[in-house]
Amino acid sequence: MKTLIQNITQLVAVPPGPVAGEAMRRPPIVEDAALLIEDDHIAWFGYRSDAPDHAGARVIDARGGTLVPGLVDCHTHVVHAGSRADEFEQRIGGASYIEILEAGGGIKSSVRMLRTASEDDLVAQSLPRVRRMLECGVTTIEAKSGYGLSPEHELKTLRAIRRIAAETPVEMIGTYLAAHTIPPEFAGRPNEYLDQMLESALLKSIVDEGLAEFADVFCERGAFDLEQSRRFLGACKEAGLTPKIHSEQITRTGATAMACELGAVSADHLEFVNDDDIAVLKRSKTIPVVLPGCSFFLGSPVAPARKLIDAGLPVALATDINPGSCTIESLPLVMSMAATMLKMTPLESLVACTANAAAAVCRADRIGAIAVGHQADLVLLDVPNVNRWTYNVGVNPVATVWKAGRVVVERGDRAVG
Ligand SMILES: [Zn+2]
Repeated sequence: MKTLIQNITQLVAVPPGPVAGEAMRRPPIVEDAALLIEDDHIAWFGYRSDAPDHAGARVIDARGGTLVPGLVDCHTHVVHAGSRADEFEQRIGGASYIEILEAGGGIKSSVRMLRTASEDDLVAQSLPRVRRMLECGVTTIEAKSGYGLSPEHELKTLRAIRRIAAETPVEMIGTYLAAHTIPPEFAGRPNEYLDQMLESALLKSIVDEGLAEFADVFCERGAFDLEQSRRFLGACKEAGLTPKIHSEQITRTGATAMACELGAVSADHLEFVNDDDIAVLKRSKTIPVVLPGCSFFLGSPVAPARKLIDAGLPVALATDINPGSCTIESLPLVMSMAATMLKMTPLESLVACTANAAAAVCRADRIGAIAVGHQADLVLLDVPNVNRWTYNVGVNPVATVWKAGRVVVERGDRAVG
């Protein structure tokens, strides 16, 4: 089956990731373009006047819009139970994330709510969020466990992620974040908790059932220290899960360097990275993932994204959607924040949410790019260029979304004035 999309004002041919440093600013752009989809992949793209024979193809008029790769949200906690809206007001009153946590709130209340939710509840609560993210042009989502904190409830979360994948066109990628915080029943005994969550039969069933591809740890004061984080990721890696890490978010712990040494695919947050960490990242293949939505939501410092890019690194952006530190579901809104808060250009942000985000989930050879042979995950926008997408903050100009060559979102006439 063939589809020709034509009358595209601007096609941003983001190359396969990772795209580092200066190159992030200048992805190739084809003006007055067309693109041919064959079955599930991109068969051709270029100037409209050069379009190959497309007899029998369905022809779609892009009405002068912009075509970009499907977005990849490479760091989320989208599958969770309940809300922490009450905490939002406490924080407005001046309480810090760590103060709320130490008073038994914060992530601990998300754990209580997740443990009482059934797998069906979890799917029912999370599915609408995933559908809204798809409407914003997100075709692949990494989703972490980490509110269950027992073998039973972590498995329940990972199974809910898999069920959501079956019920939406979005490609869902599971990450085992058992080392998110220490559950109350193990207070003061973090190593015994980790023993339980690293039990070999448990890790084997996660890997054998394909419930997760990655393992993640929150390395932070009040959560897991450097040695515990290293032990958790090392054991998970041995079992077949690729390491990721939450590093240098609230304090600098040195977790980024540890993760690079372990061969982590990404180091995420990075608000407090220093020059030594940047030098270590430069020598590694680890993708730095920046989450400005979290800084916005918490009113906390931002990661030095400009410095990371100028150092020649392939920065990725993600929402970090979660019930406590960032409820933002819209990756395009995060692109607007990256412009105003991180001084990233709209094209840098697009590359960060496509090619580099795909690299952060080990899929850069298949998604996150407009390249011949790549999967046809595409977003058509009712705006003439990417700048207009990020400039119209919070407005959704998505007209059509394709996942693996199939139209999965089609919206009416939504031209942005
Ligand atoms: Zn996170």
